[in-house]
Amino acid sequence: MASVPDGLFIGGGWRPAATGATFGVEDPSLARELRTVADAGAEDARAAAEAAAAAQESWAATAPRERSEILRRGYELLMQRQDELALLMTLEMGKPIAEARGEVAYAAEFFRWFAEEAVRIEGGYQASPDGKDRFVVMKRPVGPVLLITPWNFPLAMGTRKIGPAIAAGCTMIVKPAEQTPLTMLKLAEIMTEAGVPAGVLNVLTTSRPGEVVEPLLRGGTIRKLSFTGSTAVGRLLIEQSAEHVLRVSLELGGNAPFIVCEDADIDKAVEGAMAAKMRNIGEACTAANRLYVHESVAAEFSEKLSARMASLAVGRGTEGGVTVGPLIDEDGRGKVEELVADAVVRGAKVLTGGERAEGEGYFYTPTVLTGVSPDSALMSQEIFGPVAPILTFTDEDEVVAAANDTEYGLVSYLFTENLERAFRLSERLETGMVGLNKGVVSNPAAPFGGVKASGLGREGGRVGIDEFLETRYLAMPLG
Ligand code: NAD
Repeated sequence: MASVPDGLFIGGGWRPAATGATFGVEDPSLARELRTVADAGAEDARAAAEAAAAAQESWAATAPRERSEILRRGYELLMQRQDELALLMTLEMGKPIAEARGEVAYAAEFFRWFAEEAVRIEGGYQASPDGKDRFVVMKRPVGPVLLITPWNFPLAMGTRKIGPAIAAGCTMIVKPAEQTPLTMLKLAEIMTEAGVPAGVLNVLTTSRPGEVVEPLLRGGTIRKLSFTGSTAVGRLLIEQSAEHVLRVSLELGGNAPFIVCEDADIDKAVEGAMAAKMRNIGEACTAANRLYVHESVAAEFSEKLSARMASLAVGRGTEGGVTVGPLIDEDGRGKVEELVADAVVRGAKVLTGGERAEGEGYFYTPTVLTGVSPDSALMSQEIFGPVAPILTFTDEDEVVAAANDTEYGLVSYLFTENLERAFRLSERLETGMVGLNKGVVSNPAAPFGGVKASGLGREGGRVGIDEFLETRYLAMPLG
């Protein structure tokens, strides 16, 4: 395993937790501890907040080009260390090494994108309607930000927040998920090499997130929260952010419908479903959670999808040829097992999979279910595993109503060769993103995000940096 620095990263230096506590990080493919990391508590949170506050003014005053060049170097260093970072992610998270390499490239692209945005922060100059006054509208960094990331994309969910925070001139505290802290510690080391000054990027690893995050949100130093994780925790953090009226961006859960119309290219739809369902072992907020297939093509689609799913190789992500790694932990696998059992009790038929796979880790076989009852638990909850439930529909109104019948609204997928239908349905689907004949929508150049209980704000694209900027203005008379 790559060398990973030991300790919390605060004010440009590595140190143990104030209490000296540590916690273990597991390799989910072996269900065995990889190593331990520092376990931060409230005192460390205070120290990190002080470091971020102390560095804020001088960091905001750096030339945009300097911040841009740091990001550009960050991009290059990530690509140079692609193999090393990919292996680290595979070890602590389980995803197959080829996908981990893909995540490093995707994560690095956020730095490249925001290196370009850093030098394009613009304001404006305008006259009052009576012509007497002038207004200079400016964009200023929000201030110290708290960035909280999940375990499923340990690097990309970090760079998607760190990139725009650096570009905008915000100092930050990053709190990675307890399952996958190693990748973030390595990233802090790399960004220091890229030139991030002391105090600008601080990393707190902890097994007790509530004890670190709540004092930070209520402490008065942090000005903004950017959170990616579950809707339940997102709701809690909105409440905690209310005390100081913090700005909040939330990328929360999803329950993506995947719609295959009767005029779809079925082979294309099957490949799209493989990408939308099986990317990251199904552990993605964007994962296809409910597959609605027109009844006239359902038999062909189900058969082809089952054959593709059954051909996947399950195993340790470090092994050649493996395309499906373990789930993150025993709880994650247990939840998938419960959801499948519930669907089967309610009448679903297992076309392939539906059981644990062999091995010491938390493996589960790629599964296709047909005849799924709409009242099954997996229709309303995120499956977060390699399970594709198929339902059928007969007309557009029916499928739109079913697709929108969820509190989530992150992404939907639509397969049709009819352009008018594509536009008509895209407008009616209540999601922040639609994949049209495409199973992966994420791209650093696009404004990623959800509606309804899937979140607030957007990451990436031209608007991604706005989340880290305040709009202010100066008013003056013109003689
Ligand atoms: P989670 O909400 O349990 O954890 C996410 C982060 O929140 C972790 O860093 C965790 O330590 C922290 N956290 C947990 N409890 C906390 C508390 N009480 N106070 C403060 N912080 C706390 O989610 P998870 O299981 O790690 O990740 C999976 C979830 O993330 C899924 O719901 C998935 O859909 C969502 N997700 C969303 C996106 C998106 O862009 N919309 C991307 C990836 C994952």
